[in-house]
This record gives sequence, structure tokens and C-alpha cells, in this order.
Amino acid sequence: MDWPLLTQIWKRDAQALGETAKSPRSRELKARTASADRVVDSVCPYCAVGCGQHVYVRDEKILDIEGDPNSPISRGCLCPKGSATFQLVTGSHREQKVLYRRPHGKEWEALPLDRAMEMVADRVQKVREDTWEDRNADDKALHRTLGIAHLGGATLDNEENYLIKKLFSALGIIQIENQARI
Ligand code: SF4
Repeated sequence: MDWPLLTQIWKRDAQALGETAKSPRSRELKARTASADRVVDSVCPYCAVGCGQHVYVRDEKILDIEGDPNSPISRGCLCPKGSATFQLVTGSHREQKVLYRRPHGKEWEALPLDRAMEMVADRVQKVREDTWEDRNADDKALHRTLGIAHLGGATLDNEENYLIKKLFSALGIIQIENQARI
């Protein structure tokens, strides 16, 4: 039926926001997400609110990321930053490599991830050995280092924070904080 007023009455579309607002062309349109092979539940990585997201995947590539209506935190909503999460994986400005600038160096060097991880591990080991405090002046056990601290980001989830705390405490590191608590 082409007459808007009659469509409104016929379809019980009192505010003309449903069927009445559709044209033959818009009626044929399908959401981009309709062609997804699967949907993966996720959590927005940007802040401590932790809004739920649906990640739509087609041919093993991310097609779109939208709010998860089942999330008790956000009920399908995302703020402008969370709504732009898709660009986190597709944005052309995103660095895809580890970049390293040597002490006094002026240029960034690309490093393989394995090499960068080894360098981090070497530095943690050396600082821990150099700053280890076994006992205090009263011969009381300390078993700690104040040479290393950890500040977590808001995007870490409970499980990651649990593992970070376990690992760092096992290394004798006591300065452990998370951005979500600041
Ligand atoms: S959508 Fe916005 S409010 Fe929600 S977690 Fe992401 S950045 Fe935070």
C-alpha cells in the first residue's frame, strides 16, 4: 500500500516510525551483520565499564562490532568510543608491529614479538636481582623488590588481573595497581 496515512492505520504504526517510514528500496535493505557466519561475545576494551559487545565474523574477518543486548551492564548500548571499536581492528593508523627505541636512539626499530618479549623478561630478571631485598635491618624477612611496579589498564578483565597479581606477587613485586581502581 503506497498511501502513508492508510499504511499507518493498516499497520497500526501510530507514530509512522515503522512500516510507514519504509520505501520499496529501504524495505529491501539488510543489516550488514545479517551476512555474518557467526557472532562472538566480547567486552569493550576501552574502559572499566566493560560493556558487552557482539563481534560479527564473516570468512574469519571481523565484519562489525555492536552492543550486546544481553549484557546486564550495557543492555546493548555502546558509547561513541565503544561504537568505534571496529576501527581498532581495521584502522589504518593502528601499529601492527612492536616498535623499540634504543636508549639515546632517535629512530623506532621494528622488532619481532618474540624478541621483544625476551627483552622484557631479561629486564624484569635483571632489575629483580639488582634490587632484591631479602631482609630488613632488624633481620626480618622481606623477600621483595621495589624496583618494579605494575599499573594495569582498565581493559584487563578479572582473570587477567588475577594472573598478573599471582605472577607479580610470586616475583616479590608488591607495587601492583590497576587503572580501574584509580
Ligand atoms: S562502550 Fe564506552 S562506556 Fe562501555 S566499556 Fe566501552 S568505552 Fe567504556
